[in-house]
Amino acid sequence: MAVPKRKVSPHRRGNRRGHDSLKVEAFHECSNCGELKRPHNLCTACGHYNGRQIVEPKGL
Ligand SMILES: [Zn+2]
Repeated sequence: MAVPKRKVSPHRRGNRRGHDSLKVEAFHECSNCGELKRPHNLCTACGHYNGRQIVEPKGL
């Protein structure tokens, strides 16, 4: 069985994982209308949040 020759030091392990972090997206698509909206915020286009209609959309 192939086995690593030596233990990977914490420093090297950290270097390797430097690109592994999840990036936080500032905008996500609304699940109702597909418009870009801020996460954890009411959709400004359709007024939906968490699958529910919270406010009436503008322009009606
Ligand atoms: Zn929406």
